[in-house]
Amino acid sequence: MPELPEVETIARGLNSRVAGDVIESVWLGSKPEPLKSPAKEIVAALESKRIAGVRRVGKHIVFDLGNRGKATNLRKTSKTARARTPAPTFDQSQWIVHLGMTGRMLVCPAREKIEKHTHAIARLASGRELRFVDPRRFGRLSVSSGFEAPGSEPLDVELARFVSLFRGRKTPIKSALLNQKLLSGVGNIYADESLFRALVRPRRRAASLTRDQLGRLYQAVQEVLKEAIALGGSSISDYVDSDGEEGFFQLQHRVYGREGEPCLVCKAPVKRVVIAGRSAHYCPKCQK
Ligand SMILES: [Zn+2]
Repeated sequence: MPELPEVETIARGLNSRVAGDVIESVWLGSKPEPLKSPAKEIVAALESKRIAGVRRVGKHIVFDLGNRGKATNLRKTSKTARARTPAPTFDQSQWIVHLGMTGRMLVCPAREKIEKHTHAIARLASGRELRFVDPRRFGRLSVSSGFEAPGSEPLDVELARFVSLFRGRKTPIKSALLNQKLLSGVGNIYADESLFRALVRPRRRAASLTRDQLGRLYQAVQEVLKEAIALGGSSISDYVDSDGEEGFFQLQHRVYGREGEPCLVCKAPVKRVVIAGRSAHYCPKCQK
């Protein structure tokens, strides 16, 4: 499952490759699952539109679409620039892609062989194609105008807001971190790693955290996500970037997936527990 850093990396890669290009036509496959909006609406929203930019919102990839003549609204950014620029306010639609478990967005020449499990193809004026490939079909395509993530953006949220998200919450802090209505895009790996760095046990009631602990957690969440983004996303299995190349490196996990192995700080064996159906890893000595 791609987490926030992977989606950020993919969105930046897509932005550097296709911003400014025009979608000439769209093909959608016959499988219904990947289409969250009706096929007709997707085609109508995408065809003859210029891709003004691509950015990440939560764990979604958002293509901002403008009219094909409006070259002045182009938001061309360099490879190193953040893809998450604010949405332009002029009349426009958005193409939203959620990668699910195994979804990928490829940019390739039109002549390239179409992979099995390709569910959507946007043909671009440059002669290339944007293809959505997803063997397990948990990924979703939709169109919208004014798309917003349900929760706060973990890399932009201010400390005061972050602290207020957890006030009065009786759920374990780990579950609160995973609650997408509070923070958008923090997944299991980065929640465990953040709690380790903040020295807070995953089972602690969110409301019981001190102001200091919340301050440390705020720092840790941003640190962990930024480090993973700098590495190009960490995640698991078969990751590829928007050119179809394997481009991801593993962030060294300090607790995630290290059950029974010695804590990198104190050597105590890392523990694994299950909280609300998700595994949580922590050091019983370092984390309180
Ligand atoms: Zn430890």
